Amino acid sequence: MKAAVVTHFGKPLEVRELPVPEPGPGQVLVRMEASGLCHTDIHAAHGDWPVKPSPPFTPGHEGVGPVERVGAGVPDRLLGKRVAVPWLGSSCGHCRYCVTGWETLCESQINTGYSVDGCFAEYAVADAGAVVEVPDGVSSLDAAPLTCAGVTTYKALKVARVVPSEHVAVFGIGGLGHLAVQYARIVGAFVTAVDIEPDKLGLAHQLGADHLVNARTHDPVQEIGRLGGAGVAVVLAADPAVFEQAYRSLRRGGRLVCVALPADEAAVKVPVFQTVLGGISVIGSIVGTRQDLAEVFALHAAGRTRVIAESRRLDQVNESIEDVLGGHAEARLVFEF
Ligand code: ZN
Ligand code: ZN
Repeated sequence: MKAAVVTHFGKPLEVRELPVPEPGPGQVLVRMEASGLCHTDIHAAHGDWPVKPSPPFTPGHEGVGPVERVGAGVPDRLLGKRVAVPWLGSSCGHCRYCVTGWETLCESQINTGYSVDGCFAEYAVADAGAVVEVPDGVSSLDAAPLTCAGVTTYKALKVARVVPSEHVAVFGIGGLGHLAVQYARIVGAFVTAVDIEPDKLGLAHQLGADHLVNARTHDPVQEIGRLGGAGVAVVLAADPAVFEQAYRSLRRGGRLVCVALPADEAAVKVPVFQTVLGGISVIGSIVGTRQDLAEVFALHAAGRTRVIAESRRLDQVNESIEDVLGGHAEARLVFEF
């Protein structure tokens, strides 16, 4: 099978011919139909974060396709089912997080395309308990971006406890942001989209954003302040300065939701005085659970969301990464097989 492999951090990926992996006990073999390119894959390939994967490895954690084989102990009924292979490759199932619906915080978790080989390949093995069935009404091309970009922004709005008519500011419109705008609308919020690219703001407008701020030409803190401040600011741009802007755009009682992960151990300065007097919350939100993903698929199957995805071939992996880094991708790039 073909797989795009990281051989050294910071070097182009190599498309290699590898043996099709065997599903071990508790695993399924998924034949990839679509596999999304997430910014996390680029950080993985560059070794950007404090916890690093070990090359050679295959990135990718937005994989979608039918189960072709099952390993020992996995029921046959999964055969032929179309499933999504998410970032959370497996979790222990027993710890306080796993038993309270927070398996995304499990300290024994394994991450697809990071600690084990992922979905930039024609086949991938996955833990049968971690995959999520994709309903018929959701195409594989759409399901791929929903598997990380979708569930991550959906969860970010859930943990922020947004209520109808609240003002949500989304910082960074792209693979994640275009979905965040739609989930904020679904829960009844007024939405301000902030980006530096006019095209991305145009996309946010089409998807229902109420206000647009071009942060290259206007100060988002002032612009959002003029609207009364944001109840919730979701940060999807991996620049520490944007986190600080987002913090300062909050009204009293506001919640800053940190989703993007800047390289290395970037820190954001939070003024304690304003945080205390303003009753501000700072929340970290990491992907979403299997249940969250099932909800994301159900909303999409019901026609409540639109996925903006562009199809690529796996051998275009390196130019696709360049396009994402250069801001030339409209939203999500998805490898189709
Ligand atoms: Zn991702
Ligand atoms: Zn656990």
